[in-house]
Amino acid sequence: MASGGRAQDRLNRVVRVIAQNMVAEVCSIYLTRAGGILELFATEGLKAEAVHQTRFLPGQGLVGLVAERGLPLNLSEAPQHPRFVYRPETGEELYHSFLAVPILRTGRVAGVLVVQNVTPRRYSPEEVEVLQTISMVIAELVGSGELVAPEELTEDSAATGEPITLDGLALANGIGAGVAVYRQPQIQVTRTVADDIDAEQIRLEDAIAEMRLQLEQMLEHPDLAHGGEHREVLETYRMFAYDQGWQDKMRDAVLSGLTAEAAVDRVQQENRARMQKIRDPYLRERIADFEDLAIRLIRIIQGDRENHKTKLTEDAVIIARTIGPAELMDYDRRFLKGIVLEEGSSTAHVTIIARAMGVPVLGRVQGLLSHVRPGEHVIVDTASARAYVRPGDDVIETYRTTLALQEKRLAEYAAERDLPAETRDGHKIDLFMNAGLLVDLPSLDSTGAVGIGLFRTEFQFMVSPALPKVDEQTKIYSAALDAAGDRPVVFRTLDIGGDKPVPFLPRDEEENPAMGWRAIRIALDRPALLRYQLRALLYAAAGRTLHVMFPMIADVSELKRCKKILQKEVDRLKLHDRVPPRDIKVGCMLEVPSLSWQMDLLVKEVDFLSIGTNDLMQFFFACDRSNPRLADRYDLLAPPVLKFLKMIIDACGEANVPVTLCGEMGGRPVEAMALIALGLRRLSISPTSVGPVKRMIRSVELEKLRGFLLSNLSSPEHSIRDSFISFARDHNIKV
Ligand code: PEP
Ligand code: MG
Repeated sequence: MASGGRAQDRLNRVVRVIAQNMVAEVCSIYLTRAGGILELFATEGLKAEAVHQTRFLPGQGLVGLVAERGLPLNLSEAPQHPRFVYRPETGEELYHSFLAVPILRTGRVAGVLVVQNVTPRRYSPEEVEVLQTISMVIAELVGSGELVAPEELTEDSAATGEPITLDGLALANGIGAGVAVYRQPQIQVTRTVADDIDAEQIRLEDAIAEMRLQLEQMLEHPDLAHGGEHREVLETYRMFAYDQGWQDKMRDAVLSGLTAEAAVDRVQQENRARMQKIRDPYLRERIADFEDLAIRLIRIIQGDRENHKTKLTEDAVIIARTIGPAELMDYDRRFLKGIVLEEGSSTAHVTIIARAMGVPVLGRVQGLLSHVRPGEHVIVDTASARAYVRPGDDVIETYRTTLALQEKRLAEYAAERDLPAETRDGHKIDLFMNAGLLVDLPSLDSTGAVGIGLFRTEFQFMVSPALPKVDEQTKIYSAALDAAGDRPVVFRTLDIGGDKPVPFLPRDEEENPAMGWRAIRIALDRPALLRYQLRALLYAAAGRTLHVMFPMIADVSELKRCKKILQKEVDRLKLHDRVPPRDIKVGCMLEVPSLSWQMDLLVKEVDFLSIGTNDLMQFFFACDRSNPRLADRYDLLAPPVLKFLKMIIDACGEANVPVTLCGEMGGRPVEAMALIALGLRRLSISPTSVGPVKRMIRSVELEKLRGFLLSNLSSPEHSIRDSFISFARDHNIKV
């Protein structure tokens, strides 16, 4: 590689040397051109005329498969593989065994390196390892730009400079604007092959030690001195810094002949490529944590012990594939206006930290890095789940107006904070808020909510590496009750599983996790988990009122089993001389449709009920709540939904059981308008929805609205939204 000459000549020499050393009859290099097309660039063993002629479309053939997966493929009988595509110009029909590895460059597949043999055989793990190491060296040559034009390699669509809009997923709400700042300047690994393996081993070990030291110091930072989720997230992150598997992989890579930084980079590249395939959101995020650590580690190896704090000097939007939780705290909060990520999920550690910091985050933006260049103007708007890159003057102007309007509205909502949520004809509605983290608690005062209608206790479990102990749980529940004072807090017991994985509970692959082993199903199968949680809730509520609610109840018998467990824990208090709560109110979520056919029995078993429309509606319509393709398929203002909800609300009304709705639906003013028209008097919504929903309520004449809604319940339309909005407009209802 170091021998100089034209890049193509070097490539030709490289395939020859690899073929000789690996005793392979064929060695070929395919490189990625614009549009993901893989072109044969050099070969030893295949026909020379195929070079620059043979091409595979993305995903086509075995070469396309390796590029698509980003993982090696080792076959003893390649022609029998279902994805094998025969190319007559190559003359490859002679060869049976096939080993291919991706050529990875900054997380993208820049090509594929292949060796083939006539005799059918599987290549050994050592051979796979060697080929991967070589592919890394080739990646550097590809990056030189001599073989394929750099813009083709990066698919750089930013080249045109046109304004574009990128769609994503709102992870932490808000709106912000600034210049694009790449997460950090790309780290460059310039030296890949070790001169002295022993010296490289020492460099790696020293750097690992230094990285750990840095993390320990970070955890001692005065800003983090207090407990809470931030700290737990960082503790988890620190745990990864001690992960044995990760270190072993890096050590092995050094032993295979790479420099320390190249070894870290190679393991990181493999992780990244694998990440593209993993569906489990929890695992994906954990790999993102490793990536963050890897970058830290390479910096240290390369002598940047300050960890290269990215200095922001003007309003900025951070652009990254993914970002680690600790790293976010390296940025100056005054200038940090937003984050846009190619990856990311609502349960990612960085999302939780960003929410706590009040920074808007837009995630899952496809092709982000190829659309934005550092220094370009970016606007993040999570309300529309979009990022505007190089926005035109019209968009900037609109954004300025929106921001000004938002500030004005927020000021108005704040001014209306102490006004009652009462309709013009005197019907009072109780507006509760949803919470789950300690950082949510100050919103109780700032919004004027009458209490917490849904406290999602699983959040604490999701950010903890190990099962939180009873006293740790008690601390959080006490803090919520302290913050609420006389206002009620409804604690929902663990709703884990499904889309809310926790690190300490091993999970089987499930076809349908939302309908799988989750929430109360786990709790009833593993009663100790529920018992400890109930114990913590009872301790926290000593002398006060405890509201406890069970999730995902499908029939009354499940609820009765939960109540029995609760009773056992209440009895246990006496044995241990603990002060019991002053009063205990027990309720459950109605989020599985089957339960609604037992309303007569249910109302006798509960002190209150909460309708969880997020889940209830996905089961009602058989429509996955997390599938973006189905997001607009069904409307919650559809006659069947409204009739169904009316049946539940009426049954509770007749039995005098307070019923709340705590799904996202209640936080949207138009939907909330329909809900109060159906007779609902309690909504539990996100803190930011309290202002707009209250404003709607105060502008409504409920009796008139109810008459209108009831007359529309039997409409054959897909949705009555349009006529509902027209009604609001005609009657000056602020939605
Ligand atoms: C619901 O399902 O409506 C609900 C509030 O619970 P979660 O969104 O936490 O599943
Ligand atoms: Mg739910």
